[in-house]
Amino acid sequence: MATPPDNPAQAYHEVVARIARAAQACGRDPAAVTLVAVSKQQPWEAIAPVLTAGQRVFGENRVQEAQARWENRSDGLTLHLIGPLQSNKVREAVAFFDVVESLDREKLARALAEEIQKQGRAPRLYVQINTGEEPQKAGVIPAEADAFIANCRATYGLEPEGLMCIPPVDEPAGPHFALLAKIAARNALSKLSMGMSGDFETAIAFGATSVRIGSAVFGDRPK
Ligand SMILES: *Cc1c(COP(=O)(O)O)cnc(C)c1O
Repeated sequence: MATPPDNPAQAYHEVVARIARAAQACGRDPAAVTLVAVSKQQPWEAIAPVLTAGQRVFGENRVQEAQARWENRSDGLTLHLIGPLQSNKVREAVAFFDVVESLDREKLARALAEEIQKQGRAPRLYVQINTGEEPQKAGVIPAEADAFIANCRATYGLEPEGLMCIPPVDEPAGPHFALLAKIAARNALSKLSMGMSGDFETAIAFGATSVRIGSAVFGDRPK
């Protein structure tokens, strides 16, 4: 098992440099790839140096944990919810997050639309696609993606800005990233949230506009 970086700020700068190199290697502007630093489960000692180093975009997978960590520190930050969202947490999620990446079912679309109306505050939305069609994983299956996105727009007035996926751990990620890009293109969605610590360079080659990176920046999450 890898040990946490002794110096998270240095690990962070290395990841930023790797993102830039990966973008340049395929003729893309590094500024077109946003690093979402995934701070879930990390101790504050690992997060603080990265914040000091200038990172302003963070990803969390649980509403309550994110609130506990960021509630009084969220000024000037962009916070992404990257984990599954239960219907009973929608109110808090809409109030708290700038981006929700896990829109994956009609019931949630309806609840989000209602809350957005009520609060007059709209997080940017990504539709999560279960590219590997894994039963244990959240996300709309690829065959249902077009209809789901159309329904979000037509029935609920939601305008997702992009798609998100988490490829199966035991398969090469490239084909999953390619599939996500294809579904996005045919639905006129310009943003792709894909790529984590182990595969973000591949994701950038396939067009990722944001990469969600935890352990490569902060070290392994405590078990
Ligand atoms: C935890 C998590 C990540 C970050 O994973 P690392 O391998 O630590 O980079 C990215 N995306 C999602 C949805 C996650 O839950």
